[in-house]
Amino acid sequence: MSDLTAFIAGLPKAELHVHHVGSASPRIVAELAARHPGSKVPADPEALADYFTFTDFAHFVQVYLSVVDLIRDAEDVRLLTYGVAEDMARQNIRYAELTVTPYSSTSRGIPDGAFLEAIEDARTTAERDLGVVLRWTFDIPGEAGLAAAEETARIATEMGPDGLVSFGLGGPEIGVPRPQFKPYFDRALAAGLHSVPHAGETTGPGTVWDALTSLRAERIGHGTSAAQDPRLLEHLAERGIPLEVCPTSNIATRAVEDLDSHPIGEMVKAGVLVTVNSDDPPMFGTDLNAEYGIAARLLGLDAPGVADLAKNAVRASFLDAAGKTRLNEEIDAYLAGWQRREP
Ligand SMILES: [Zn+2]
Repeated sequence: MSDLTAFIAGLPKAELHVHHVGSASPRIVAELAARHPGSKVPADPEALADYFTFTDFAHFVQVYLSVVDLIRDAEDVRLLTYGVAEDMARQNIRYAELTVTPYSSTSRGIPDGAFLEAIEDARTTAERDLGVVLRWTFDIPGEAGLAAAEETARIATEMGPDGLVSFGLGGPEIGVPRPQFKPYFDRALAAGLHSVPHAGETTGPGTVWDALTSLRAERIGHGTSAAQDPRLLEHLAERGIPLEVCPTSNIATRAVEDLDSHPIGEMVKAGVLVTVNSDDPPMFGTDLNAEYGIAARLLGLDAPGVADLAKNAVRASFLDAAGKTRLNEEIDAYLAGWQRREP
């Protein structure tokens, strides 16, 4: 392990763009598969690790859907959510805004109340037992259309649990224009939630502009193509609208050709507040520590630079002021300890 890799592994971190089902690691999936014998997902850990090895985007979708198929009742939801928090604790992730898609579960017959109770139970248990603070983004699965948007807005605004802080929009961008979701985002914002749609991952900067104007985005999921529009970068920098950058995911989905051509450097240079995230980590064969390693290489960062990157995520988060101060102090203390340790 290189020095910087070790530094990153121990660094207290926050993650702002990571999906609930997309975080199901082989370990979690093995537990879910054991609860539902007869599913097509292999149950023994070795075969499961092979099954999970990322080959291409079509395979990712296949793995993702087979995990979705294993989440059949509230206990599956609780097990998945707590398991994700355990995987976060192992990476020293101290705070995460986890993107949850209630519609995927309620449309499969899990009652909304039971679903919310399960994630909230996992959240409070994870905070107490693992020291991982979780908050929720409820997102509209864009491909499921306006009925899904209505259901997501209803659950978020009428039943929104304590951990809910924001409202998102995921799924494909091509053929799913952002402005049609304006009424749902208006309702979510009126209910006090923050707006954090995905935009500019697989389509051009126009989609990011749409997310800003129609959906009043306060942070942009990915925003990769913003780098093609200097005026947009300037606008994001001026308004202090952060980007949630997920390097490995961008390569896996072919949003970017290879890591060396990733625009993260241009974003930083333009003064945009950039955060680094993992998106669907086990399914893309990565985790947040690996993403920090990649960002450190692309941006030429040393330990203090990486600590600043971690602070960007704290700043861009919807943690309260006291929580932000606490996490920043933890990062500072860790960095100071690390620097004392070095010869
Ligand atoms: Zn995403």
